[in-house]
Formats: sequence, structure tokens, C-alpha cells
Amino acid sequence: MKFVRFLDEGKNKTGILEDNQIIEITSSIIETINNFKKCSELGAHNLNEVKILPPVLPSKIVCVGLNYIDHARELNMQLPDEPIIFLKPSTGVIGNLDSIIYPSSSKQVDYEVELAIIISKKAHQIKEENADNYIGGYTILNDVTARDLQSKDVQWTRAKSFDTFCPIGPCIQTQLDPSNQKISLKLNNEIKQQSNTKNMIFSTQELVEFISGIMTLNPGDIISTGTPPGVGPMKVEDIVEAEVEGIGVLRNIIRN
Ligand code: MG
Repeated sequence: MKFVRFLDEGKNKTGILEDNQIIEITSSIIETINNFKKCSELGAHNLNEVKILPPVLPSKIVCVGLNYIDHARELNMQLPDEPIIFLKPSTGVIGNLDSIIYPSSSKQVDYEVELAIIISKKAHQIKEENADNYIGGYTILNDVTARDLQSKDVQWTRAKSFDTFCPIGPCIQTQLDPSNQKISLKLNNEIKQQSNTKNMIFSTQELVEFISGIMTLNPGDIISTGTPPGVGPMKVEDIVEAEVEGIGVLRNIIRN
């Protein structure tokens, strides 16, 4: 099932996405995922007549650095023995069709398509075998990065944290096998990244165990699972489309 948040007549609403229709529902996405029986339907909207919002408003976004075998090979790097993690701030979040603003302090802003985990319940020290009980669904995340600033700074915070550097969406897919989905990215309709989530070094369940052992994850928080090979730069006016099989396409445009 695919869930979306959307703006209709000035109000933030929640719905179930079915083809080009959104069935509006009464409770939030996280509440609905945790207790579907409590949600009731309020009528339908045409997808093209509303604005899609980011599907969740996370308190934090935990990202994983090198997590694709093929990306490690591309960079000629050894496979990490533990996940390498960093944070993106919640203020970077934008939704489908929103603009990524190119900061004047960077000369190279890169795309990174990633599969993102949506946490549905408060998660603290969760074991891998129980991890799926804390995963409400999956979305697409573009881990936009000011690559020149990442190289310059020892810490990655500046490079990863500009406003608009965390596009997510378009929906949350609750039924997805995260271990075998095609993942790709197009820039101006040209394929730049293409892999499969089966190439991940650390599985979604291993990541929940590792990260929830460090910090408590709140409902709505996001774990972004790393990017496959082929990352590269974007320029103003470019259209970037991040795609994960079974979820959809997250489309954004770069602006000054
Ligand atoms: Mg990344």
C-alpha cells in the first residue's frame, strides 16, 4: 500500500495512493501504518489536482555512507566492517516536485539516489531479527551533497545539510522487499545511477540494529541506506529523477 501526504485547499491531508487517485484518510500515515483499522476514508482526490508533500516530517535523518558493494568497487575502497553513519537535519526535507536550491557557497552539488526506511515505532536497541516490526515502510531519498565542501571539511555536516538537500517521497510503500529492488537515477532523462538493493553491504535490518543501538529512533524518523555507483553533479535547471522499483519516482528541479 502506498501512502502520501498532500496539500488540498490549504490543508495538509493524508491518503492512500491508487494509480492517479488519492483516497483521503482520517489519521496520519504513521498512525495508519500502526493501526490501519482505526482509519476511515473521506473521499477521493485526483493526484494531479493536489500538491504532494514530503510523506513524513522526521525528527532526524540517519544516513549510511558507503553501503553498496558496486559503489565500493567503483571507488576502489575496502568494504567497511561497520556502517559509516552521519545525520542530515530535518530542515533539509522537501517533497516531490519541490526545488533543490543550489547554494552560492558550493561549486559542485551532487545527486545520490537512496532507499529510505521509515521508522514506525520508537526503536531503542532493537535486534536485527525484530527490526521489521519497527519499519513502517520505505520511500526514496536523494542525499544531495555539496561535494566540494565535503572534500574540504573533515566533517560532512555542512556538505549534507543545506536547506532543500533532502528530497523524500513521493510516497511511503508499506509492502516492499527491500533486499531486491532496482534503484536508479536519471538526470535530464539520462540514466546516471543503476543498481539493485541486493548489492547493499548492510541490510535494512542490520542498519536498524546498529543505529538503534546508538540513538533512539522516533516514529517518522528516516534511515537512508546509501547510494549505488554513478554519483555526479547537477546544475541549475536540471531535472533529477530518483527511482526505486515498487515505490515510484521522486522528481526535483535545481534552482538558484
Ligand atoms: Mg548518501
